[in-house]
Amino acid sequence: MADGAGMADGIDLEALRDRLDTVRGAIADAAAAAGRDAASITTIVVTKYHPLALLDALHGLGVRDFGENRHPESRDKAAHAHALGDGARLHFVGQLQRNKARQVGRYADAVHSVDRAELVDAFATLDRGEAGPLDVAMQLSLDGDTARGGVPLDGAEALAERIVATPTLRLRGVMAVAPIGADTDEAFARVRETSERIRRIAPDADWISAGMSHDFRSAISQGATHLRIGTAITGNRPAAP
Ligand SMILES: *Cc1c(COP(=O)(O)O)cnc(C)c1O
Repeated sequence: MADGAGMADGIDLEALRDRLDTVRGAIADAAAAAGRDAASITTIVVTKYHPLALLDALHGLGVRDFGENRHPESRDKAAHAHALGDGARLHFVGQLQRNKARQVGRYADAVHSVDRAELVDAFATLDRGEAGPLDVAMQLSLDGDTARGGVPLDGAEALAERIVATPTLRLRGVMAVAPIGADTDEAFARVRETSERIRRIAPDADWISAGMSHDFRSAISQGATHLRIGTAITGNRPAAP
């Protein structure tokens, strides 16, 4: 076999490019079908558990938004993304413990998983120096199973008000994961309705972070602005470290 043609650090660049092109094509098709401009949709590639070399490869293919779900892995990925530059950003999308919130808030460019008052209060004393307020999305719980993260929908407005009243934070919108086995169009429609309610409190909080590898088409049909896509682009994830 040719000596690693298209391979770098064990990454099959050819296959990576193929998967990325396929997903970009599917996003364009879903956007067109929904009468939306694909340029208004940000694709966050979730790189959790993968080596830093995957960020290099993705960056070379034009990816600028990376997603991670655990500190401290997310800290190393953020530093790497920032060193790659050209607008590369790290989105923290995982469940967040109160005692890690301020650390994550210092290096992340956005946190999508703010789901309780305790986290907002931890962020109130966040010091990001020149970087300014931290962009946050509120994670919604669509099935009321808050063990998987998320604020119940009937608590969303109160949490939004608390975020808006916290000068170290900038509320950008909402985030959700479709419940297992759910009708995703119906689930993401509820996210869109909740987003509309939140925008009465914070008019520019227009992010809808929804849609993963298996349901991003449905999320686009319901107005998602930020997709969080892992395996459809990266291939299978290594086991959690
Ligand atoms: C891992 C993860 C994703 C990506 O999941 P895939 O099914 O691999 O696309 C999206 N969102 C969150 C919160 C995740 O933890």
